[in-house]
Amino acid sequence: MARERLYLFDTTLRDGAQTNGVDFTLADKLAIAGMLDELGIDYVEGGYPGANPTDTELFSQDHKLKAAFTAFGMTRRPGRSASNDPGLAVLLDAHADAICFVAKSWDYHVRVALGTTDEENLASIRDSVRAAKARGKEVLLDCEHFFDGYKANPDYALACAKAAYDEGARWVVLCDTNGGTLPHEVEEIVAKVCKVIPGGHVGIHAHNDTEQAVANSFAAVRAGARQIQGTLNGLGERCGNANLVSIIPTLKLKPEYAEAFDIGTSDAALKKLSHISHALDERLNRAPNRHAPYVGESAFATKAGIHASAIVKDPATYEHVAPEIVGNKRKVLVSEQAGKSNVLAELERIGIKADKDDPRVGRLLDIVKEREALGYAYEAADASFDLLARRTLGKVPAYFDVTQFDVNVEQRENAKGERVTVTLAVVKVKVGDDNMISAAEGNGPVNALDLALRKDLGKYQKYIDGLKLVDFRVRILNGGTGAVTRVLIESEDEAGERWTTVGVSPNIIDASFQALMDSIIFKLVKSGAPA
Ligand SMILES: [Zn+2]
Repeated sequence: MARERLYLFDTTLRDGAQTNGVDFTLADKLAIAGMLDELGIDYVEGGYPGANPTDTELFSQDHKLKAAFTAFGMTRRPGRSASNDPGLAVLLDAHADAICFVAKSWDYHVRVALGTTDEENLASIRDSVRAAKARGKEVLLDCEHFFDGYKANPDYALACAKAAYDEGARWVVLCDTNGGTLPHEVEEIVAKVCKVIPGGHVGIHAHNDTEQAVANSFAAVRAGARQIQGTLNGLGERCGNANLVSIIPTLKLKPEYAEAFDIGTSDAALKKLSHISHALDERLNRAPNRHAPYVGESAFATKAGIHASAIVKDPATYEHVAPEIVGNKRKVLVSEQAGKSNVLAELERIGIKADKDDPRVGRLLDIVKEREALGYAYEAADASFDLLARRTLGKVPAYFDVTQFDVNVEQRENAKGERVTVTLAVVKVKVGDDNMISAAEGNGPVNALDLALRKDLGKYQKYIDGLKLVDFRVRILNGGTGAVTRVLIESEDEAGERWTTVGVSPNIIDASFQALMDSIIFKLVKSGAPA
């Protein structure tokens, strides 16, 4: 049976740029456009040429993308001709394959926000589409507030969409601008639109204000729409846009969609999905959402003992899709409730062979339970568990010894008379027969200690050159004998691989030191550094 083509339109660089705390540079935009192209997205919307220096620069040259690079902007202003509107001229001159115009489709907004007549708004849509077509561009029209507009005045909302379609726009995109429309309403309204405009020319642009942007996108597809607009990781204003990172695997893996539609994302590209999702967060300097569907670190993580033993026998028992298909990994969490089967499954996952009757496996389980009672969190600190397991099984070399460390925090006046706090860490390390002393200043005690510790590890230095600390989380736990501090450190190596280590102590420096040491030793083990 021939499958229909369904198109994906990404607006990470335009709508996603509205996310609170996100500010793309030109380099960010170019890198993200590259990731989207790798994923096989059909349209990459770059931004608003002329609206700011970054976007103007972005659209000043051609981009070698397989995707249609798309410029976004307004239709001609009311009361002007298409040839006498500087805003429209910038858009037409932009180096872009496609132009996505935004226009009002709710008569209330036409009168109140735009201050013009219904007929002038329709004329503006027609003129703008015609002008862009004349310049050889593929044209899309984003119908702003379409669903709210349709509820208020269906004839006018449809007339706006129809005006663009009749003038030759390739796509008419129905936008749920305020994000409050529910899936059954989307399905009903899109079905009505598709009676007037063929679904092969209808797109959906959903916002996540009721956490149903993904569901709304699928509702529109069920009703006939054949283009989905969204963003990577659901970036976007307020609660975000429809998350393409969730939509793509559902389209590829769920039979209802996979058997009916082809999309631009290949099976090979789908395997890169987890990596691309995390790489975007990395670029934005935010920790990836552990619970993100398909790509989150916890998306295929199982905790309870009975599930874990079933998963080892047959993963399909507790997984809706196989994690490798989307480039993710299965994970069996080791925790207080852990049974031996969890520990064995986790050992197998990290590549340590152990016999289930080996007494050391039972010993490892006891140690995990003891330490978790003290505050260690091994399910969050995979690398510390890995080391604990290897140590218990006698497989971690003694690479080096930290014989002494000293951290000094001092507040004083600098030359400008400002109060500043300066931290200095000194670390004495013994590597084989060599004794090394390193000192480093940092913006805080943990930073200084980290820098001093990694400054000179003698013959092991080359293995940790690419190591960096990317996240540091501190929690105060109230144990039976008073408060203790748990420190979780996330590290990254030169290949972008990440791991987390843990330390626990009443003293925050001690707890941090344990986590830093685990991170370095884990890297040496991982790199196969000789003992
Ligand atoms: Zn939007």
